[in-house]
Amino acid sequence: MSNQKSEEVVAYRINVNGIVQGVGYRPFVYRIATELGLNGFVLNSGNGVIIEVEGKLDDCLKFIERLRTEKPPRAIVKNLVYERIPLKGYGEFKVEKTVNGEVETLCPPDVAVCQDCLNELFNQVDRRYLYPFINCINCGPRFTILEKLPYDRVNTSMKSFEMCGECVREYSDPLDRRFKAEPNACRSCGPSVKLYGRDGLLRVSNPISEAARLINEGFIVAVKGYGGFHLACDATNRDVVLELRRRKKRGNKPFAIMVKNIEEAESIVELSDSEKKWLLHYSAPIILAKKRVPNPVVEEVAPGMKYLGVFLPYTPIHHILMRGVKPSAIVLTSGNVSEEPIIFRDEEAFEKLGNIADYILTYNRRIVNFADDSVGFVQDDSLRLVRRSRGFVPEPVEVELNIDGVLAMGADLNNTFAIAKRGRVFLSQYMGDLENIFIRRRYVETVKSLKRLLNLDYKTIAYDLHPGYYSSQIGLSLKGNKIPIQHHYAHILSAMAENKILNQDVLGIAFDGTGYGDDGNLWGSEFIVVRNGEYFRRGHLKYVPMPGGEKAIVEPVRMAFSYLYDAMGEDALKIDIGIGDRIKTFLKKMIEKGINVPRTCGLGRLFDAVSALLGVCLKRTFEGEPAIMLEMVASDGIEESYPFSIVGGREYIVDTAPIILSIIEDLKKNVPASKISTRFHETIVRLTVELAETIRLEEEVKNIVLSGGVFQNRIISSRIKRAMEERGLRVFCNNLIPTNDGGISLGQAVATGFKTGG
Ligand code: ZN
Ligand code: ZN
Ligand code: FE
Repeated sequence: MSNQKSEEVVAYRINVNGIVQGVGYRPFVYRIATELGLNGFVLNSGNGVIIEVEGKLDDCLKFIERLRTEKPPRAIVKNLVYERIPLKGYGEFKVEKTVNGEVETLCPPDVAVCQDCLNELFNQVDRRYLYPFINCINCGPRFTILEKLPYDRVNTSMKSFEMCGECVREYSDPLDRRFKAEPNACRSCGPSVKLYGRDGLLRVSNPISEAARLINEGFIVAVKGYGGFHLACDATNRDVVLELRRRKKRGNKPFAIMVKNIEEAESIVELSDSEKKWLLHYSAPIILAKKRVPNPVVEEVAPGMKYLGVFLPYTPIHHILMRGVKPSAIVLTSGNVSEEPIIFRDEEAFEKLGNIADYILTYNRRIVNFADDSVGFVQDDSLRLVRRSRGFVPEPVEVELNIDGVLAMGADLNNTFAIAKRGRVFLSQYMGDLENIFIRRRYVETVKSLKRLLNLDYKTIAYDLHPGYYSSQIGLSLKGNKIPIQHHYAHILSAMAENKILNQDVLGIAFDGTGYGDDGNLWGSEFIVVRNGEYFRRGHLKYVPMPGGEKAIVEPVRMAFSYLYDAMGEDALKIDIGIGDRIKTFLKKMIEKGINVPRTCGLGRLFDAVSALLGVCLKRTFEGEPAIMLEMVASDGIEESYPFSIVGGREYIVDTAPIILSIIEDLKKNVPASKISTRFHETIVRLTVELAETIRLEEEVKNIVLSGGVFQNRIISSRIKRAMEERGLRVFCNNLIPTNDGGISLGQAVATGFKTGG
């Protein structure tokens, strides 16, 4: 039925915010507007996408409705507002240039090459057949090529490549998939790949196929990806995997593998639907999935592990490379010397990777921002990142507090830092461990460069309470208002922010290795209540000495002795823990004299001690190894728990001595390590649930928040979560923000919002 009102011609102005730049938002708007016969324009501004449309009222309303319900695949609309405006009489619909002003819009993360581009890449008649830099508005590098916002070609490392006529045509046509695809390129105008051997450039017609052939022959090849170099070798060849470990100076820390496709992945690891979904996701993270037994990948890739880190090709170079690779999987690990930062500049690759790789496959487009691969595992159908970097950075976390102008330094292990602006917290890419001098340098550089790049400024600096942390020292050296934040409080806040429950009262359980406590001891088994942003400590494990401080982390057998001595005194000397009597006496004296013996209640240290007692890991070669290996020997079955006792009132203390004594009893009875580990895990679950139940009843809270590195342990996190949910509690964990210290910067930033009343 014709309605007179709907024939009326009106005009609207619409403002869309979120991830709407570099994701094909303007062409999408153009298509809808032209389909509905509307005139006007769309443009990127300092404040998101601005649209004006004119036409029949009905069509304008349909247009707004479609903007609400439809979007290009990777756009994220956070906010859409519109208002009626006077008619201006536009004659057509146009895509206008970006207008300057304060840049508020966000930079998208790097995106794995899309299916449309892959179809062209492997289509012999396509003009980009096998062109390794194919991309479109829906895929390609983003953050890693960005020099500054807004995300336009002139602000990326693509600016040195002038588009050919054909590429310009695609780039300027609003109906083309490459309209405003900033890295748009082809063989005649874009970047190209080169392969180098020890004697220089190899003159081969197809460097990528040649690199694949070299991998098949057992060589180690460095390959430049989106965010840095990788080292690649045949994952089914024991000799080359061992050689890579030797050259990279890498202990037992697992390598990730790249497989050709999801079918190949399924032949190596078991995959649930969510795991498959994340492997195929455009962020293309490494997924830690359960190994199949047997599988073609040699054990030396991830020695003793139940899980393998697997990922799929995400750049066109990877896709072309994997086509030529014969084995079902290749090792693809960060291009660096162990513990050093990932290498992303060509000069450095030639200097430092020259000794590790036999060949280097690189290309002439500069990586502006490095980014390691992101790593995660799937639990209860949700992704839990243990490293948040490529594919996720620099997407901000939106928080309910008005935090503005804050730089949060993070912690020293698995460092990320963060900058907050108007309620958005931008976490940096993964930095690594700030113990390493090269990572320290890169950290200082990156704090400066991210601030510039994303146009973020700060007046307030949040840092970890630990006076010995490098990140704290750097924070203190910067100009601004400085606020120290307790480590475990930051862990809990990170999970609260991620789950958007900052305005609720919670019982937070922070389990990790060590973090500096308010009493000067090393904490790490904290039961803290957070109420109106204030926290107070209601429980923790008993303190034990850490003989030699940091040395006790590298040599878990020291923690084993310390726990034994705590539980049985002098008798501890009689227990065989794989070290000589002289060392035991030395440790005993150290503890008695209290020289260089900090006190710790970190649950991670108890895991270390048990791991060493069982002979599972006496000396660690990578962070968390003793605890991880203890989890690996545990079985899936349920065993009875060991006894423990909880004492105290205002502050509850869990006495661990009964646990240690029972483990010694089991060892004397030759109970296998796998059974003891399973019982130990069950014990931690029980004592956590029991103590949490007591505290939450006293404090009248219903929300439980779990955070800290120990919650990367799948047995601990899933069983605690389930047991508490069965009691009718709401349980929150970290998901896309790491539960390890990679999430600390978010918690620190959030804490300033409470402290300054923001
Ligand atoms: Zn594409
Ligand atoms: Zn071109
Ligand atoms: Fe921590």
